[in-house]
Parts: sequence; structure tokens; C-alpha cells
Amino acid sequence: MKIFNDQHEMFRRAVRTFVEKEVEPHVDEWEEAGQIPKSIWPRMGELGFLGVEYDEKYGGGGADIQTTMVLCEEMVRSRSGSLAMAVGVHTDMASPHLYWTGSEALKEKYLPDICRGRALCCIAVTEAGGGSDVAAIKTRAVRDGDHYVLNGAKMFITNGALADLYFIAARIEQGSSTQRHRGISMFLVERHTHGLTVSRKLDKMGMRASDTAELAFQDMRVPVENLLGREGVGFYEVMRVFQRERLVAGLHAVAGCARALEDTIAYVQERHAFDGPLSEKQVIRHKVADLATLIEAGRWLTYAACLKFGAGEDVVKEISMVKLFTADMAQKVAYDCVQLHGGYGYMREYPVERFFRDMRLMTIGGGTSEIMKEIIAKQMEL
Ligand SMILES: Cc1cc2nc3c(=O)[nH]c(=O)nc-3n(C[C@H](O)[C@H](O)[C@H](O)COP(=O)(O)OP(=O)(O)OC[C@H]3O[C@@H](n4cnc5c(N)ncnc54)[C@H](O)[C@@H]3O)c2cc1C
Repeated sequence: MKIFNDQHEMFRRAVRTFVEKEVEPHVDEWEEAGQIPKSIWPRMGELGFLGVEYDEKYGGGGADIQTTMVLCEEMVRSRSGSLAMAVGVHTDMASPHLYWTGSEALKEKYLPDICRGRALCCIAVTEAGGGSDVAAIKTRAVRDGDHYVLNGAKMFITNGALADLYFIAARIEQGSSTQRHRGISMFLVERHTHGLTVSRKLDKMGMRASDTAELAFQDMRVPVENLLGREGVGFYEVMRVFQRERLVAGLHAVAGCARALEDTIAYVQERHAFDGPLSEKQVIRHKVADLATLIEAGRWLTYAACLKFGAGEDVVKEISMVKLFTADMAQKVAYDCVQLHGGYGYMREYPVERFFRDMRLMTIGGGTSEIMKEIIAKQMEL
């Protein structure tokens, strides 16, 4: 079945060339530094990689979901889960809140810089007290004249230390216990807004080049026009963008696993033990066949959900299945690929070691596997 047309393939070649020439040579250095240089963003903007689905009048590419799929797949081929995640947050997790729910004036003001890579975005929903229960958000927004005043804090925010634009979920009113979702709204906040502090850059197991921050808001005044969507119904809008985030996670997991398996196949063909290459041992051949089959299953589950989502269908159940399946798949593929590399798989100089650490996030970030199972069961009316 053909998913990608000639235009998509042309776009793929452009992203792959960029990744091979301008990303891959620097990945180790960025991991070591714990940071992706900010100069990558205007460069990606110049190449037209940021905002591929946004309308051309805002500087976007006016393209379709397949173009986003290609971008995700090719970013992960860099073997930098960190860069793929940072880009995904900017293009598919944070800025869609503006594109889908922002006023025309806000879109005209901010989208061109987002597409050009001059304004890096992050999305701040999770709080230290709990991420799975989004409706329990404690950050408050109180209306004061033509501003909202925000107080609270956020945890684990990707791009949080370097961002220029913060998409922040806060509660405007205290809903009753049966309507705890109602008060949540999304605000667009500029970096230098008084009262916004990056409290801490967090140190983590994997995705080490991606910045993950803890944020604090103290009497932070946000103009009323920077409220995205309708006051108090933001929760449902947040949940809609989460669907895109989870598809992107699925695409990253599948393409990342495919890349790791390619590397592993090359390794077992080259590595000799007991008078021949590892790839000639039946146990190893079968393991590779199992992994390839698993990745192919994940790929088609993900592609089907992407295409349905792109066509505007309600695919919450399918997308939750994508997130659940591909996150588990990534754990198995990462474990087995390290195993097939033997001792070298445990060494920093082999990309599979980083892949193993990066992939651990997949069952946690963007909604845990347990929460995906809850959503699937609920969608099945259990
Ligand atoms: C590297 C990284 C980057 C991130 N980037 C962002 C970001 O950019 N923006 C953002 O807003 N957030 C971000 N997150 C937060 C992420 O989405 C949360 O970590 C995730 O949603 C889980 O929330 P939690 O960590 O508070 O775990 P908790 O909600 O405390 O859950 C802990 C455990 O309990 C389980 N659990 C919770 N409730 C239930 C239940 N009802 N039934 C069964 N099991 C349950 C969970 O599955 C999990 O295993 C990031 C996290 C990480 C680690």
C-alpha cells in the first residue's frame, strides 16, 4: 500500500540530507553537552521543516499529515531521540494549541516566528503532584482587568529551559468534584514575562540532549487575549492535541526501532563467533525476524491511525493503542538490540546504548501505558 507520494519522498530526501550532514555528526557532542544548540531552530525553519501542516499565510508548508509522518521518521533516523522529541514538542505538541484554538491576531503574531524557528515552543501541563491526572492541575489563573494572573509550577517540561513561548495549562475556576475538567484553560506566555522562572534544568536517564525543566509562576500577568480557546473548556482542547502528541510518539518509536534494528543487523553480519558471523546462527536470525515483524506491526498500526486522524476521524481508541503498543515494542526492541550487540551494546560509543536509555521514556511520557489502557477500556465502554 502506498502511503507516501513523490512529493513526500522529495521532502524525505531533503530532511534526510539535512540530518546526515547537519545533525548526525553532532549528536554525541550534544548528548555530552546536555543541550541542542539553539541555532538548529532557525536552520530548520529556513529549510521549511517547522510547521509543515500550518497554512502558508503564517509561514507554514500547507502540507498534509503524511509530511509530518516523514518528518518524524527522518528526525529519528538521526539516532537522536532528543532532537526528534524537541522538534515534536515544538511542531506537534505545543504550537498546535495556537494553530487550532488561537485567535487570528495571535496566530498572525506568533506563527511566522514559530515556523521560521525564531520562537521555540514548549507545552507545560504536568505538575510535580501528578501528571496522569491532568484534571487535577493546581496552577491557578485569576482574572484581573485585562490580564490573568497565574500562580503555580510545572514539572518535566521539554524545551522548558530554552523556550521562547510557553503553552501553559492552568485552572481558571474551581470546578465541582464532578466537573473537575471544566476550569482548565491554555495560556500562551512569552519567555520574558515577569513572574516566569525556570527553577531547575532536570538531569535524566535518557534523551539527554533535550532540555527538561521545572518551571514556576509567581503573580505572572498574562494578557487576556493570550488565552487560547474558550475560557474553562481548555481541558478538552488539551486532550485533542494529546492525540497528535501520541501519534508522534508512535512514529518516533517505530522509526527509532527500525533504525536500531538496521544497526543491529549490520553488527551481527560483521561480528564473528564460533567460526562464522552471528547472523548465520539460527537463534539470531529468528530474533531479528521477530523484531522486524514486531516493528512492521507497530508501523501499520501507527500509519492507519495517522491517516484516520488526518482525515478527521475520531480515533482516540486507535491512537491510545498506537501509544501503548509502540511503547512496549520499543522496550523489547531496545533490550534485544543491546543483547545482540553483546558487551559493545553496553558501551557509550555504540548508538544502541543511547537508544536503550532514550526508549525507556516511551511508556511514561505523553501519557503512561497504564493510562493508555484505561482510555482503551473506557472507549470499549468497559
Ligand atoms: C523526559 C520527560 C519529558 C516530559 N515532557 C513533558 C512536557 O513537555 N510537558 C508536559 O506537560 N509533561 C511532560 N512530561 C511529563 C509526562 O507526561 C508525565 O511524566 C506522565 O504523564 C506521567 O505523569 P507522572 O510522572 O506524574 O506520573 P504519575 O501520574 O504520578 O504516575 C505514576 C505511575 O502510576 C501510574 N498511574 C497513575 N494513575 C493511574 C491509574 N489511574 N491507574 C493505573 N496506574 C496509574 C502511572 O501509569 C505511572 O506508572 C515529561 C516527562 C518526562 C519524563
